[in-house]
Amino acid sequence: MPEGDAIHRTAERLRVLEGDVVRADSPHPRAALLGIAQRIDGRRLEHVEAVGKNLLLTFEDGTVVRSHLRMHGRWRVEPAGRPILGKPWLVLRGSEWQAVQRHGPVLELGRGRTDRLGPDIMARPPDLNGMVTRFRAADQTRALGEALLDQTLVAGIGNMWKAEALFTAGLKPWVGLRDVDDDRLRLVLLAAARLMQPPRRRGGHLVYRRVGRPCGRCGTTIRSYPQGDDARMAYWCPTCQEGTEPRGA
Ligand SMILES: [Zn+2]
Repeated sequence: MPEGDAIHRTAERLRVLEGDVVRADSPHPRAALLGIAQRIDGRRLEHVEAVGKNLLLTFEDGTVVRSHLRMHGRWRVEPAGRPILGKPWLVLRGSEWQAVQRHGPVLELGRGRTDRLGPDIMARPPDLNGMVTRFRAADQTRALGEALLDQTLVAGIGNMWKAEALFTAGLKPWVGLRDVDDDRLRLVLLAAARLMQPPRRRGGHLVYRRVGRPCGRCGTTIRSYPQGDDARMAYWCPTCQEGTEPRGA
């Protein structure tokens, strides 16, 4: 899953096309049905931005193409004129560069920025107060670890940084929102923001995908258990992180 930081790197590469009038084309039949290429063909690409896990491409008439890459979506930027192989979802040809989007799957047309997304964890500085406000407006019986992946509360945190940020802040993924005060919540979000911003910490993960191995801080065996509706695997150290263990684990 491309996380917020990977999306920001993709946005950075796509910015070589900013200011270009693009020729747009959707060779993939399912993408062609969306009619997106027709809407933007021949228009100037004004602005590329990453918001959470979404790439937003804004064109001169205010049309916004939103691209959410899910598990397998990829954007590739290459010199203009390279032959296009296969059936990409969207091809944007500029004067010197072309961008090719493969494996969709989520492309949408809209106008203006979507405000359903929470504040971006990669913003400098991150809007921690805005995030806390959204967390407090959410159902307080939800588990903190699950809420951190809810893109409407905070945009850009994926499963790996969720695990690492919770370890850093010393809270288990299973702690209920109602048991975390605003200061602790801010601490978790700040940990995520710091871990995700370059320069990155060197060395391996703290808990992510380390199940059954000793915690680097205390030696306790790292645990894992699926969390949330889509059962993403959560990882934690039973000793270094406060809070309840999951029911049934
Ligand atoms: Zn530990």
